[in-house]
Amino acid sequence: MKIINEVKDAQTIAISGHVRPDGDCVGSVMGLYLYLKKEMPEAEIDVYLDEPPAIFGCISHIEDIKSKFNTNKEYDVFVALDTTDDRLGEAEPIYRRARKKINIDHHISNSGCGDVNVVEPERSSTAELLYELMEPEKIDEEIAIAIYIGIIHDTGVLRYSNTSPRTLQITAELIKFGFDFSKIVEETFFEKTYLQTQIMGRAVLESVRFMGDRCIVSMVSRRMMEFYCVTPKDLDGIVNQLQSVKGVECAIFMYEIGTLEYKVSMRSSGKVDVSAVAMKFGGGGHVRAAGCTMNGTYHDNINNLSIEIAEQLENE
Ligand code: 5GP
Ligand code: MN
Repeated sequence: MKIINEVKDAQTIAISGHVRPDGDCVGSVMGLYLYLKKEMPEAEIDVYLDEPPAIFGCISHIEDIKSKFNTNKEYDVFVALDTTDDRLGEAEPIYRRARKKINIDHHISNSGCGDVNVVEPERSSTAELLYELMEPEKIDEEIAIAIYIGIIHDTGVLRYSNTSPRTLQITAELIKFGFDFSKIVEETFFEKTYLQTQIMGRAVLESVRFMGDRCIVSMVSRRMMEFYCVTPKDLDGIVNQLQSVKGVECAIFMYEIGTLEYKVSMRSSGKVDVSAVAMKFGGGGHVRAAGCTMNGTYHDNINNLSIEIAEQLENE
């Protein structure tokens, strides 16, 4: 399947991804937008997404993203990338109204929510999958940068186990465009502001291991975020830092989003299927990286997650 064949008759196209967009989400949404804008100059194409982190400013035309919108528009085609419909946030009603819904994703928890579904959980990233749906000769440097960012963010710079020979082949094709990939990796993936580094330090310092040191957990409250002048976007990377502790099978990181309401991120070394754990609480993701939103006290949430994790570790 090639994406152009699915959208070529459309006059109006909307593109979106999940709430709190990460690198893969922003990269694939923008990659598709730049591609279709070039291939279908006559079409009206809109991108709806929460305001992306400033680090993605290196992606061409990122300013075209509509983050505040109120529209009754009925699109010919809506492409939902890296997500299920229930995580489209404010774009969900627009998706519902669209005449043709296309869902492109790599989350194992997604059973497909479109009229056309391309969901391949073995893919490193939605960006990698999107590349396969494009005609390679039609990709330019700007599109390549967006897809490259998607791939490196979901693979931890080509290092997680989701990286396949095909991921590396595609990445090789992309860097042939000659853009400064090492600068992109440094500035979008590794570089942190001083305050981001401080709150990560605080979260690591206050982390606690449990279940015979096989699990680790930490939390950032709204008060802490206020103290360090940070927002949830600044907390990326904390859960991965916790997961890198020797001997840890499963890392849990939570931050407070409301009264008795927490956004939960989980990472696993592979023994625990954290997507299955997250799905028990209405979330989802991948075997080794998943998330959900939980209501209750911090300690109740840890207890509830622990029951699911312990069950998996016992059945191991
Ligand atoms: P993160 O912990 O980095 O926010 O997310 C890890 C993975 O789980 C990502 O692929 C993300 O899309 C997915 N994920 C995080 N939170 C949720 C959620 O609430 N629902 C679903 N379905 N997936 C989530
Ligand atoms: Mn992804």
